[in-house]
Amino acid sequence: MENLLEVRSLCKHYKSFSLDHVDLTVPAGTIVGLIGENGAGKTTTIKAALNVVRPDGGTIRLLGGDPADPRCRAGAAVVFEDSYFYGGLTPRQVSRSMAGICREWDGDAFDRLCRRFDLLQRQPLKEFSRGMRMKLSLATALARHPRLLVLDEATSGLDPVVRGEILDLFLEFIQDEGCGVLFSSHITTDLERVADQIAYLHRGRLLFQEDKDTLLEELGVLRCSAADMATLPEGTVLARRDGALGASALVRDPAQVRRLLPGAVVDRVSIDEMMQFYGGGEAK
Ligand code: ATP
Repeated sequence: MENLLEVRSLCKHYKSFSLDHVDLTVPAGTIVGLIGENGAGKTTTIKAALNVVRPDGGTIRLLGGDPADPRCRAGAAVVFEDSYFYGGLTPRQVSRSMAGICREWDGDAFDRLCRRFDLLQRQPLKEFSRGMRMKLSLATALARHPRLLVLDEATSGLDPVVRGEILDLFLEFIQDEGCGVLFSSHITTDLERVADQIAYLHRGRLLFQEDKDTLLEELGVLRCSAADMATLPEGTVLARRDGALGASALVRDPAQVRRLLPGAVVDRVSIDEMMQFYGGGEAK
């Protein structure tokens, strides 16, 4: 399968933070959800991968070429949480100016998206709510017919109805198998709903990029005594937390753990819980 974005060993150093040899891919036909705690490096990864900030090391292939090449960047559309237009403009004026600067601009597609999102062509953007501004950013991104759509925290602060509309749009977008989406979010239920793969950044390092269904099936949350937990084979416990009510652990191969510890509880894991284990627990 073709990779729309291929990031290998990406490094970026700031005074008090480093991205440390991050690998990340977005295969065509796939929605990749990028998760990680606040400050884990998601925005930095996205910016460095798209040449918004200059990487200090690593290689990046964007749509088969160099992200510094404007022809490659033209096939990718990016929406940041705060990427808004000047408030005095209306959607109609946005469309006119985009038509002037962007060869791929499809004004009819933009109008269709505005109608779908109930955005009025003549309303100034300063009167838009946060959800409306985000919908406008998305309509603007999609009206260029990109192959790769990248969104950084685009659904944060939006109500469930608006988020649902945006997620539906992602799913429609990747019906064209040549297209793909990379989106970072703290709303893990959104990722559980639409992401095909989950990439997890933790303190500037990529812990894993995995198929979401495999990940959620192959991992479980074990609750038992610390003594029982200690009897499990090496490599079974990935991270653990000790609380007042006993120990809990993120474990590999829940079926095997149930066989080995018949009295113990092994629940399905959610992405939220997984992050709590890796972010707050003792990761192995
Ligand atoms: P959040 O979920 O809170 O948005 P994030 O995972 O997107 O976080 P980044 O915005 O990539 O994290 O920031 C990672 C780290 O890099 C932070 O510690 C931040 O202070 C630092 N950082 C980001 N941009 C710069 C910059 N221009 N100069 C110095 N440090 C920076």
